[in-house]
Amino acid sequence: MFSEVEIVAGLRTVGLGTTSVVMVHASLSSFGPVDGGALTVCRALVAVCGTILVPAGSWDRTGVPAPPGLVRQDNACRNAASWEEFDAALARAAAYCEDLPIDAELGRIPEAMRSHFPHSRSRHPLVSFLAVGSRAEEFTDASRLDWPLGPLDALAATGGDVLLLGVGHDTNTLIHLAEQRLDRSSFYRYAKCAEGVWMELPNIPGQCDGFGAIERHLQSATVECFIGKCRARRVPARTVLETARRLILADPAALLCADPECSRCRAAHRQRLAVIETEASAQQSSTRE
Ligand SMILES: [Zn+2]
Repeated sequence: MFSEVEIVAGLRTVGLGTTSVVMVHASLSSFGPVDGGALTVCRALVAVCGTILVPAGSWDRTGVPAPPGLVRQDNACRNAASWEEFDAALARAAAYCEDLPIDAELGRIPEAMRSHFPHSRSRHPLVSFLAVGSRAEEFTDASRLDWPLGPLDALAATGGDVLLLGVGHDTNTLIHLAEQRLDRSSFYRYAKCAEGVWMELPNIPGQCDGFGAIERHLQSATVECFIGKCRARRVPARTVLETARRLILADPAALLCADPECSRCRAAHRQRLAVIETEASAQQSSTRE
């Protein structure tokens, strides 16, 4: 059975301390049995780090399909077959509010953080972040309706880190930011924003099933240790962004999965190819002038 003291020691071993700002992706089960469960892991994080960010999306409650007929290029989004289906989905969905529980698929640690610690949460109906600690608001305030990954921009600007606790880079949202800075994996999605009212939201990230390929490129920048059975890894956010950028510039399909049936990865690839084409023709016309 693992205790808070042992988790605290592990977090310090990877170099975290009171001035650390850290985006945490974590799997509770990766530790093995923890005395006190998710709350104990949260307590250890809060005791060691200055400011903690966790993903806090509420997609499963607030999301609705694309309305019938609303088709955007390379958007890989399911449309409701009829307005009846759309209206029924809208009626079932919840409007975003800061007290909405965090998607279960993001694990138990973000929800334990939300329900037990004073926090700030970004006000985005689909892709929100929750922050705990002395500089919490500085990060959540960086989110905009048209730029949900703003808190990660702020994290990189401040020299923060990504902490992976028993999970791989396929959970690392920083890689989505690197993609979106190169106009890749920027999708339109739909959410309920009030009773009977829906909203189209741009720059929603896509699939992360190919992100694991970044791991070997980050080895020299990664500090890691084991906390029980949990592999804890800390990587500077800027290094993740620079590395993902370099890989995508070299190969527009880098860090996407190879599954031909994966509509979001294939659409993301086409988005990037379209940008390259636009840049090439702009360059051609400027050399002609
Ligand atoms: Zn994919």
